[in-house]
Amino acid sequence: MNSASTKLLKSVLSALHYTGLGSLVAPLTRGRGVIFTLHQVHPETRKGFDPNGILRVTPEFLEQVILQVRGLGFDLVDLDEAVDRITAAEPSARPFASFTFDDGYRDNLIHAYPVMQRHGVPFTIYVPSDFPDGRGELWWLALEDVLRRSNEVTVQLMGAVRTFPCATTAEKQAAFETIYWWLRGLPEDRARQVIRELAAGAGVDLAQQCRDLIMSWDEVRTLARDPLVTIGAHTRRHFAISNLPADEARQEIADSMARIEAEIGRPCRHFSFPYGDETSATQRDFDIAAGLGLASAVTTRKGLIHAAPRHCLTGLPRVSLNGDYQRSRYVEVLLTGAPFALWDMLRRSQPAAS
Ligand SMILES: [Zn+2]
Repeated sequence: MNSASTKLLKSVLSALHYTGLGSLVAPLTRGRGVIFTLHQVHPETRKGFDPNGILRVTPEFLEQVILQVRGLGFDLVDLDEAVDRITAAEPSARPFASFTFDDGYRDNLIHAYPVMQRHGVPFTIYVPSDFPDGRGELWWLALEDVLRRSNEVTVQLMGAVRTFPCATTAEKQAAFETIYWWLRGLPEDRARQVIRELAAGAGVDLAQQCRDLIMSWDEVRTLARDPLVTIGAHTRRHFAISNLPADEARQEIADSMARIEAEIGRPCRHFSFPYGDETSATQRDFDIAAGLGLASAVTTRKGLIHAAPRHCLTGLPRVSLNGDYQRSRYVEVLLTGAPFALWDMLRRSQPAAS
């Protein structure tokens, strides 16, 4: 989400909180439950240039959300139970909430797991299967490191050589925004090539970064042994599925499921689409995921979950608990469902894009 729409959503959240309108409409908009998206969990908050900070929350915030969500009357369930509740003919008396973490960061084991254990909360970690091998390319973090170390970077952008000054925090931030979104629009193989070149030029070791930040298979297995934990798949290389031809898309998903099953010795029934927005995962991809026998697949489309078939089980929306919304009043309003109903209404009132 760009910063203008983040600002807009924050204003909507605050307005709904202070007017009390959110809780008033909650019985209409809350639906059957919610799946939360998280990435990194780390006690440190960084100052200055921190373009991926939105992907990080503190263990204290995570704990506060657990208490808050329970206090609001949600049952905290694993994804198998969530799927049962979405497909049940009758809704449960209480809504459900399910916690999911994307990418397999080691800090999930170190900082999130103790919190989840302490409160007995089930959770899912979606692992891109190349990552625990130390072969993952966390290109969004590599781009951040390149810009942090450099005073300027030069890229071949849309046929033209462009040099971005990045001596100051503001310049680094502006360069990140432009280069990040440009890369997101490229075929993924090409984007990775650009990142490899930038990383090599700035002395950033992609493989080392992956080994430092992502769990090994031994660590994944440590978590998988706990009945609270579900390990889901997240492709092999963390590619945007919708940009791949259908056969390759199917292969990316199937390979990651098979590898996880082989490593943890249990069926892999749940999947998360990398990036997960409207441009990275489409109906074609939801159908591919269903065809592979997945019980659920999640996106980063925003929303609470209503009864099937209103939501396709392999294209489920989630609610992001990212660093942008690290305030308890935002969480409370998000869980009423009102912001998503409002968001859908606003989107429907816009002229359709051609
Ligand atoms: Zn991811």
